[in-house]
Amino acid sequence: MDARVNLLELDREGLTAFCEGLGEKRFRATQLYRWIHQRGASDFEAMTDLARSLRDKLATRAEVRGLALLSEHRSADGTVKWLFDVGAGNAVETVYIPEVDRGTLCVSSQAGCAVGCRFCSTGHQGFSRNLTTGEIVAQLWFAEHRLRAAAVESGRAAERRIDNVVMMGMGEPLQNYSALVPALRTMLDDHAYGLSRRRVTVSTSGVVPMIDRLGDDCPVALAVSLHAPDDTLRENLVPLNRKYPLAELMAACQRYLAAAPRDFITFEYCMLDGVNDSPAHADALVALVKGRAEATRAIGPVSCKFNLIPFNPFPASGLHRSPRERVLAFAERLQEAGIVTTVRKTRGDDIDAACGQLAGEVQDRTQARERLSQRRAVFEIVPQQARS
Ligand code: SAH
Ligand code: SF4
Repeated sequence: MDARVNLLELDREGLTAFCEGLGEKRFRATQLYRWIHQRGASDFEAMTDLARSLRDKLATRAEVRGLALLSEHRSADGTVKWLFDVGAGNAVETVYIPEVDRGTLCVSSQAGCAVGCRFCSTGHQGFSRNLTTGEIVAQLWFAEHRLRAAAVESGRAAERRIDNVVMMGMGEPLQNYSALVPALRTMLDDHAYGLSRRRVTVSTSGVVPMIDRLGDDCPVALAVSLHAPDDTLRENLVPLNRKYPLAELMAACQRYLAAAPRDFITFEYCMLDGVNDSPAHADALVALVKGRAEATRAIGPVSCKFNLIPFNPFPASGLHRSPRERVLAFAERLQEAGIVTTVRKTRGDDIDAACGQLAGEVQDRTQARERLSQRRAVFEIVPQQARS
């Protein structure tokens, strides 16, 4: 029987407890943590500044086990999508989106998803299981060191590749809370990835009690998938709205702002042709976030930015992407009401699929910027919340 502990499952506190259990001093845990996350090491023998006795203990009691890679797809613009096997016929995706001066990793939190949003292919697959902390961290561990090795091979520096993590892959991160939080801690820890809280974003369909807990336990940037300005429509698109209606969700966003590393919440809004994309929907959204709708009258305005996502169609949804002009008109209407709004560029390549609908967004950023700068809309390709 293999009773070895996978050290990717542990944040620094957990690793410290583990090392103490082996009769080791606390600082040994930090050394070990750095070897694993900063240097990408998985072989204890290579950790030459650890005492032989500790390396021997680790060899029998612990391991650093990443995910099994099923495939890697690279697009011409440098976007990379990895598919990992998580057992029992399940796979999860991780996507890296490079930019000129930084890189964003889109990470999955579950195999499948129980929320079942109508426009989401992950939701249509149903829920298989939660990923463990180690499986969430393994996506970053693998991607960071894979990209570094590739950079070195092509003669570039082995510097940090990933500056932003967005929990926008498969799954609802706040329905896997106990695994998520230690994973976030490792992302933030200076002895591991050292990412700023502003550059780690949890995206949620609106699990209200867990938004509060995240604010208490590990306040990182928050993105909320809104998709509708009223409860009737939102219930239809995001079934979780029946449990946590807009009034409660908006109040939770308001509370989160007190702890958040940014002074706004990012609202994601998937643009669905003829469903949620009319000028009246835009006006209703403005009323909602300005505290003039029934749902928000009691709490007042919510400081926010909007990120409009052109729907990425898949046949089983029966839904269609809003025409470009309608998306831009919608953005402009929000902008005119004083709400900073970004529009994600539609994708056209073959590596997109389910992961957070981010891949492919970077493709023609320059053209998009030029086009939109004339329209006053703030236009960014990588979601606003992923930037500093
Ligand atoms: N479960 C979380 C995070 C994963 S989904 C959430 O719902 O926020 C990440 C983002 O992708 C969400 O904003 C989601 O609404 C959006 N999304 C899902 N399916 C999509 C599709 N087919 N086209 C465009 N965006 C989609
Ligand atoms: Fe789950 Fe998010 Fe997809 Fe909704 S959009 S089904 S919450 S992954």
